[in-house]
Amino acid sequence: MKFYIETYGCQMNIYDSEIICSILLKSGFIKTSNLKKADIILLNTCSIREKPEKKIFNRFIKIKGFKKKNKKLKLGIVGCLATHYKKKLFEKLKFLDLIVGPDSYKKLPEMIKKLKNNNKEIDVRLANKERYTKIIPNGVRNGISAFISIMRGCDNMCTFCIVPFSRGREKSRNPNSILKECKLLYKKGYKEIILLGQNVDAYFWKKMKFFQLLELIAKTVPLMRIRFLTSYPSNITKNLLKVVKKYSNICKHFHLPLQSGSTRILSLMRRKYTVEEFLLIIKRIKKIIPDCSISSDIMTGFCTETQEDHRETIRIMNLIKFNFSFMFKYSSRQGTYAYRKLKDNVPNSLKISRLNEIIRLQKSHSFYRLKQNIGKIQEVLIEGISKQDEKSYYGRNYKNDIIVFTKNNSKIGSYKKVTIINSTFTTLIGEIIQ
Ligand code: SAM
Repeated sequence: MKFYIETYGCQMNIYDSEIICSILLKSGFIKTSNLKKADIILLNTCSIREKPEKKIFNRFIKIKGFKKKNKKLKLGIVGCLATHYKKKLFEKLKFLDLIVGPDSYKKLPEMIKKLKNNNKEIDVRLANKERYTKIIPNGVRNGISAFISIMRGCDNMCTFCIVPFSRGREKSRNPNSILKECKLLYKKGYKEIILLGQNVDAYFWKKMKFFQLLELIAKTVPLMRIRFLTSYPSNITKNLLKVVKKYSNICKHFHLPLQSGSTRILSLMRRKYTVEEFLLIIKRIKKIIPDCSISSDIMTGFCTETQEDHRETIRIMNLIKFNFSFMFKYSSRQGTYAYRKLKDNVPNSLKISRLNEIIRLQKSHSFYRLKQNIGKIQEVLIEGISKQDEKSYYGRNYKNDIIVFTKNNSKIGSYKKVTIINSTFTTLIGEIIQ
């Protein structure tokens, strides 16, 4: 039986697709990248914001058309959208056969087989333990860089966020299985691992904290680059900073969501820091690791956000000048505290104009940060051929900036030293040092 999988959303969804591939391949299913040849099509999706959700529903409408040509074709939705809507998805999407939440992927082979009798199958139960400890992801990795999930779920209960409901409570993974996966990837020739978690720095296994796990990984695979995301601001400790500074194979980059530059809004969001505390965290990072790159997530138009709150966000962005940011307009999600108790009273047009304003500002900050690299010699991990110019490769430096440079006898997957000679708004231009 052939399966086809399409992935939407964050890195966690990409990783989950790798887990799903591994489970299905082990059970004898065959993966196809041709949607028309599939017996089952799976859409792995995220429910965090309204926009990606709409995209999925539109995609489903297109895909369901394939059922007319292939009467045996089955369609499934997996991931956090499944847990968000549960069986209501069957009502919303008439041709849907299968709904599976993020903690039930192990049941997929059995559930898919049952679909033969024209049953509809659903499992959206959330677990309180990591379910995929022994599964080595498979299928969509590029041979150079691989995600490793070290914790799932979230206990923070931010008022805007659906994650604690769609992915469940925090559950960390046994460090032995994480180390085993790191070693295996190294043996297979991978050069970089990206540790994933909703709040990666909340990792906790028996007495082991995140900084200890990170140090153990850095020592176990000293020739691999290690990146990690997403960090929750108030979990950044001195111990963590010391480990990041000490090991040259740990990238000097934190993804640290600010969300808003107004302490009033942060408190309404139930974030665990004030703006002043966030600025102190940045100061502490820069003191210990001066050349550290810091990126962020920022939202506009959260409930009751005034022009003054928005101006505060602009002020804080100007003070920090993040290397880059993911920026969103707030969308109210059913099931969250904000949906039930707070007023989503910022008009959509205002959410959008504020969003456009911060996008423009971030663009200038990214350019400012990128230009600081000009003249420096940096090590780049070559990831592939540049989309703009096939004579060039692209890769990343230790701060996660993208560098493009002429190939010059170098190989994809290798490390090379380059001199940074210029910068566009998004990319550094380098020259290989032979
Ligand atoms: N765990 C991270 C944290 O809270 O620090 C956030 C991870 S979340 C998967 C990614 C980002 O999506 C959030 O940082 C937030 O900016 C954005 N987001 C979450 N819920 C949202 C909502 N209801 N509307 C708009 N953006 C949202």
